[in-house]
Amino acid sequence: MAESAADAELLAAAAVALNRNGEVLRDVGAVFADAGHELYLVGGSVRDVLLGRPLTDLDFTTDARPEQMQKILRGWADALWDTGIDFGTLGVGKGDYRLEITTFRADTYDQVSRNPEVRFGDNLHDDLVRRDFTANAMAIRITGDGPGEFHDPLGGLAALRARMLDTPSAPQVSFGDDPLRMLRAARFVSQLQFGVAPRVLEALLEMAQQLDRITVERVAAELDKLLLGADPVAGIDLMVQTGLGEVVLPEVGAMRMAIDEHHQHKDVYWHSLTVLKQAIDLEDDGPDLVLRWAALLHDIGKPATRKHESDGGVSFHHHEVVGAKMTRKRMRALKYSKQMVDDVSQLVYLHLRFHGYGDGRWTDSAVRRYVTDAGPLLPQLHKLVRADCTTRNKRRAARLQANYDDLERRIAELAEKEDLARVRPDLDGNEIMRILSIPAGPEVGQAWRFLKELRLDRGPMDHDEAVGELLKWWNSRERPGV
Ligand code: ATP
Ligand code: MG
Repeated sequence: MAESAADAELLAAAAVALNRNGEVLRDVGAVFADAGHELYLVGGSVRDVLLGRPLTDLDFTTDARPEQMQKILRGWADALWDTGIDFGTLGVGKGDYRLEITTFRADTYDQVSRNPEVRFGDNLHDDLVRRDFTANAMAIRITGDGPGEFHDPLGGLAALRARMLDTPSAPQVSFGDDPLRMLRAARFVSQLQFGVAPRVLEALLEMAQQLDRITVERVAAELDKLLLGADPVAGIDLMVQTGLGEVVLPEVGAMRMAIDEHHQHKDVYWHSLTVLKQAIDLEDDGPDLVLRWAALLHDIGKPATRKHESDGGVSFHHHEVVGAKMTRKRMRALKYSKQMVDDVSQLVYLHLRFHGYGDGRWTDSAVRRYVTDAGPLLPQLHKLVRADCTTRNKRRAARLQANYDDLERRIAELAEKEDLARVRPDLDGNEIMRILSIPAGPEVGQAWRFLKELRLDRGPMDHDEAVGELLKWWNSRERPGV
């Protein structure tokens, strides 16, 4: 198809998509036009309508200054958020819509600290030039005589058709101004399944180290978007190949260990990326960030635990324990929530236990402990363990899956007989204190833990049996001075 015809088709499809949001666009356009200002749909919103992706937030740019915007929108919006006001951004709630409107920017970068000095501009072109990628630097006019007028001074549409990320100006300058753009490139590689232009790749290789100037909060937000994208494997691999990974997630690239001469173990790095891909294929309820993080990191303990055995083999003893610790450390450094750190590291810690299952010879107690230790993470653990099988030996792969089917069956059977979701001691703290005639204190905790262990081993006991066991334990304890 001729280029212009293809472009016309894309724009026509975009117009249809925009029409679906026609009412809110016409309304917000009218309030800005009435006040004598220009308003453009811009950035990710324009890109996404052209790609036929669903629109989430609507991003706009305008010549109105923040305080003018506030005045213009006060009577129209249902809600206004001004947390980004210093950067010229106003968040707007209108019905189900969330709009982000930003005054034209024409930032300059202080070449010493390289912090942007926010400077407002007076024209659309300057605003588009300072954006990260050309595919994100297109605008559609909402106000005035030419609503729907398409602005693409930097070749964004051509880049979008080529599925290519390129910077509006020289990438070295752009990445020097804001190194986060380098990580955004990897994020868009995953999210949009675009490639990077050769000059962008060169600049990434040259400048990756500068990502260390960016705060961890901004880094983590991009990493999450990367992992939640359509092709995180491509995004992670770009990070690792360019050196961005070395700065923010060094454990992942470190899994590229030399393959030993006996080929006793596969490349742990590619194994991990394959597990990530396979875990994604098992998702049944939309993208699962915890599962994806765990799949990516599940083997990061391997390089540190690798041992060449005397028989020529290689072992990675306790790599799940070391890996869980490393996961915790990395995710804490990236300032993830405690819940997120706990969940991902617990999955890493548990990912190997199933391999002791063999041919179904776990006791009920072992099954109970598996379920209890996973807690609410059990569905994700099932997926992680099933995904963690990348052998090319079809019979071996089938046997592993069949064994896991068997374990899930055992879990279901046991769950029918007892409440597996909440394994608790058969006696609570108050009963323990009453039976032993002791006050609240550390001994109650010890007794509680003893009963919980017993409960895990044996399953539910009746009340008298539990009291008997408690007393037996209490009387046989070694107590100082007794
Ligand atoms: P999504 O909303 O799916 O995360 P997006 O492209 O809209 O993707 P945002 O972070 O919402 O990304 O940013 C909106 C727009 O602002 C971008 O499309 C881009 O034009 C511009 N932008 C965002 N961050 C930067 C940056 N660090 N440097 C230059 N331009 C940026
Ligand atoms: Mg956006």
